Amino acid sequence: MKFGGTSVGKPERMHQIVTLVTKETEPVIVVLSALSGTTNALVEIGNHIANGDRNTAKQCIDKLEAHYQSFITDLVKKPATIAKAKAIVAEHFEFLNIILKISYSEALSKDILAQGELLSTKLFCVYLEEQGINHLLLPALEFMTIDNYDEPQIGSIKVKLTQLLKQHNDKKFFVTQGYICRNARGEVDNLKRGGSDYSASLIAAAINATVCEIWTDIDGMHNNDPRVVKKTVPVEQMSFDEAAELAYFGAKILHPASIWPAQQYNIPVKLLNTMQPDARGTLITEKAGSVGVKAVAAKDNIIAIRIKSSRMLLAYGFLRKIFEVFEKYRTPIDMITTSEVAVSLTIDNPTHLKEILKELEPFGTVEVDENQVIISVVGNEISRTEDMVKKLFGSIMNIPVRMVSYGGSPHNISLLLPAQYKTQILQQLNKGMFGLE
Ligand code: ADP
Ligand code: ASP
Ligand code: MG
Repeated sequence: MKFGGTSVGKPERMHQIVTLVTKETEPVIVVLSALSGTTNALVEIGNHIANGDRNTAKQCIDKLEAHYQSFITDLVKKPATIAKAKAIVAEHFEFLNIILKISYSEALSKDILAQGELLSTKLFCVYLEEQGINHLLLPALEFMTIDNYDEPQIGSIKVKLTQLLKQHNDKKFFVTQGYICRNARGEVDNLKRGGSDYSASLIAAAINATVCEIWTDIDGMHNNDPRVVKKTVPVEQMSFDEAAELAYFGAKILHPASIWPAQQYNIPVKLLNTMQPDARGTLITEKAGSVGVKAVAAKDNIIAIRIKSSRMLLAYGFLRKIFEVFEKYRTPIDMITTSEVAVSLTIDNPTHLKEILKELEPFGTVEVDENQVIISVVGNEISRTEDMVKKLFGSIMNIPVRMVSYGGSPHNISLLLPAQYKTQILQQLNKGMFGLE
């Protein structure tokens, strides 16, 4: 059972989680995110330190500490547990204050980011202790590892976690940190923003759990982005493939990579609402539930690159050479379309854009459009449903679409357009595809 930032963001929410978890009859591993706002604050602190602005960093640290001081006053009530909670807060903020004095490095910034999940889990355990609930904190840094390419090592996670659990087979209630891990150099690292979902899915896969429950602040995967569109509705059931496409293409409710571990080990995933525990939520399994469109999602900050060359005409090996450039810079390509003399593709990672463009130059004329958005329409067999395609294009006729990717997967049709049309297209699709206004 994974609980996200808002689900642990207030003392009463932490109390409520305990009510939810203690209803379970099977043993449970509870995966916690940092309290909402904490990781953003830690990112900010890291940035100030990186920029040499230690005064502002110190102000941010103090502000965050004050937040935790007030949090614990409502979390626990007994003198002994209050003292423990205070000691935990003191320990972690002392650490942040020490970091202020050390010279900045990438590794240090990861240490800063890890404080959020370390704090939330430890404070949660103090509350469990106060309630007299038998439990065990499993430190994620002892089993969650990534390799040289930042890929989780599921085999070794499985071995380490199984060993840890074996040592404590008298326990039924385990708590661990989402998001944080150790990298190949043994340093503290993380699974990228929103990574607690990924932790939960990896853990579920590693222990062959009966279910992986993602508890959040909304009642499941909605048909459209609720941050952008007013009227959205939850989807009752979808397949791993559909959920993976939606997560990858921008549905923030799930970390982009969080579906594959559960899918690989065939563990059902449930998306549930901590604030509304009786709501049905979304069930994600091998089965799609129904044919047709399930949801649309938007992925921001996309860069489109077009390479135009008459040398591509009837040539073979051209695409390989282009792809090799992206491979060299470890930059994934999201969408791709080709004509006989041009290829257009998109990336979302600008880190090596300059180098990539320089290496593409010899292949032809290179054009770049930044500030694009990918809109993905996802549903079981949707590209084979004629009516669906008609509805899709019928509802967005007035929008300048830059690229269309159709047929790559039978579950996804993706469109690329300038970012300024995002809200408009999501609203029009809501009406045209789902009949919702
Ligand atoms: P948590 O902190 O629990 O991980 P997140 O903020 O990461 O929660 O994810 C939940 C949020 O995802 C929702 O509050 C909602 O605004 C956003 N979201 C974006 N797209 C969707 C979608 N298709 N369905 C549900 N929620 C979505
Ligand atoms: N706390 C981390 C973040 O805010 C991980 C997560 O919440 O999933 O990105
Ligand atoms: Mg999240």
